[in-house]
This record gives sequence, structure tokens and C-alpha cells, in this order.
Amino acid sequence: MSLAEALKQRIAAEGPISLHDYMAASNAEYYATRDPLGEAGDFTTAPEISQMFGELVGAALADVFARAGRPEDVAYVELGPGRGTLASDVLRLMRGIGFAGEVHFVETSPVLRDAQRERHPDATWHKTTDSLPKVPLLIVANEFFDALPVRQWVGDAERKVTHEGIGFRFSPGGKVTREASPATEAIAGRLGGHLATHGGVMLVIDYGYGGGEQGDTLQAVRRHEKVGPLAYPGTSDLTAHVDFAALASAATRGGAKATRLITQGTWLETLGLGPRAVALAGRNPDRAEEIASQRKRLASEEEMGTLFKVMAVHHPDWPAPAGLGV
Ligand code: SAH
Repeated sequence: MSLAEALKQRIAAEGPISLHDYMAASNAEYYATRDPLGEAGDFTTAPEISQMFGELVGAALADVFARAGRPEDVAYVELGPGRGTLASDVLRLMRGIGFAGEVHFVETSPVLRDAQRERHPDATWHKTTDSLPKVPLLIVANEFFDALPVRQWVGDAERKVTHEGIGFRFSPGGKVTREASPATEAIAGRLGGHLATHGGVMLVIDYGYGGGEQGDTLQAVRRHEKVGPLAYPGTSDLTAHVDFAALASAATRGGAKATRLITQGTWLETLGLGPRAVALAGRNPDRAEEIASQRKRLASEEEMGTLFKVMAVHHPDWPAPAGLGV
């Protein structure tokens, strides 16, 4: 039975379901059944655009690791590692400066776990963050939190999904006045507590906003096009913008610190995206144009540079990653 049919039957039996449950069911099915990344898929992420992205993330973490005194038991953790591309680029940098720690991936999709295993056969996989080792962690989450389900309200009423005629629709209709991601807050709270207790840093990169109510940020993407969020349950990627203020507030409850929030473009350029692009093009002259255009995609205002934001959470005695400290 298709997910659409299963949801239709559930709604017929139980009445309208919350948008949260609809989004959770849709994304669980979506990620479990495909590799959605890249030209042939539904969307392209920063690490799939260029190795420069992961290299700069790796340089930032390698620097944190060095400045923290190179603790031996520190582990690298990635939340939702996709194809494992980011981890390859990050770890190449970190191994280069002597990081020899374990690699842990939090991933629910069996298809993507298989892709990750090909590149990182020695990693350890987790379904949730609960089973991560109780050691200092260097955590990266790129386009992870946006995939977690949100709740929405129209005034005081929670926005639900019902089925009528041939399709799904929202109930009640009307303008969304509030949106929240309980899973984002729960995971950020747990990891912030972990960092405050055991040490380490978490780098969060995602599209989102710094604070204040945004209303409805839910969107669905299929084959690189925006589609209606209720049009393709289980076969389109549903995301919502990350509320970084809510994430920071949950993550710091247990004593961890949050850095300021800056745009991806500013962060990457501060870390040396420009010189990195020039160096890479110098060694690959036939790819110079492509490398310049990758830099633009990652950092320019019209592309990912401004929409995507970067923030870190860290143990109070651990340094903030470069470019994010005060
Ligand atoms: N970070 C990667 C992939 C981003 S796509 C990149 O930048 O290319 C989102 C990733 O999060 C996928 O790997 C997906 O399978 C995973 N994911 C989505 N929901 C999840 C959940 N609830 N728990 C763990 N992983 C999840």
C-alpha cells in the first residue's frame, strides 16, 4: 500500500492527523526509500556542490580539536550524513592534523546508511542521539534539522491534515501564525547537555532564521522543483526552516554555550573560501570556471550564502569554532 493510501485510511479511521505526524510519516518513507541527493535526485546540498565546503568545516573542527588540547577520546559525529561526502572531506582535513578518533553517524535511512558504509566502513551507526558514546564530541549537522517534523498553528488551533475527494488538504484553512519543531528542540537539548557534561562542539548549518515568528516555512521539493507539501506524501522532501533561537535556547539549557548566528556565505568567506578556490583552481586549471561557480553557489547572496546560516554550541571551556566566536 502506498503511503498516500495508508494516510488516507488512517484519516478515515481516526480523523485528521497533525501536520507533525504527516511530515514525520512522509519524511520517514521518503528517506527510507531513496538517495535523494544530487542532480538525478530531488535536491543538492552544499557538500555535494563542492569539496571546499567540507574542507572548510573540517578546518574549523581541526582547529577546535587542536585548541582544545587534542583530547584522545574525542569522536566525530554527524547527524544525517547523506552520502557521507561531507564526512569524507571533513575527516581528510582532520586526519591530516592528527585526529584519530572514532566516527559515529546518526542516520535512520537504510539506503543512505549503505552509501555511508561504502565510504566509511569503520563508522558506527545510531538511530538516535541517545546511544552516542559518553565522550567529547565534534558534531556536525548540515541540512539535518530542517528535515525534522514541525507543528503549526492557525490561531489557537493546531494545523491538521485531512483527506477529501482526491487529495489531502489542511484543516483548518487560514494563515499559519506559529510553527515549532519539538524534535529539533529535544535533540538540541540532549546534545547540548552532552556537550556541557562531556565536552565538545556542535556545528549546525541549515536554512533558517534567528528569531521571531516566521509563520509557515514548510516546503516540499521534488526533482529540484517546489511542489505542494501535501501533493506527494513520501515522494517529496518536506522541510521547514530552522528556528535557531529555539535551537540555541534548548541546547544551552544544560550549561552549554551557543555562538552567534551568521550566514553561510560570511562564514565560508571568513574561513578562506576565496583562497581555497584559487588554490584548487591552480591545481586543476581545466576546472577553474566550475570551481568559481561552486564558490558562488555556496556563498553568494542570491544562492545559498544568505539563506543558510551557521551556529555552534560548545562546552563553556571549549573554544567556539573560527568565525563564530565573539
Ligand atoms: N547532511 C547531508 C544530507 C542532508 S539530507 C548533506 O548535507 O548532504 C538529511 C539527512 O538526514 C539524510 O541523511 C536523512 O536520511 C537524515 N535524516 C532525516 N531524518 C532523520 C531522523 N529523524 N533521524 C536521523 N536521520 C535523519
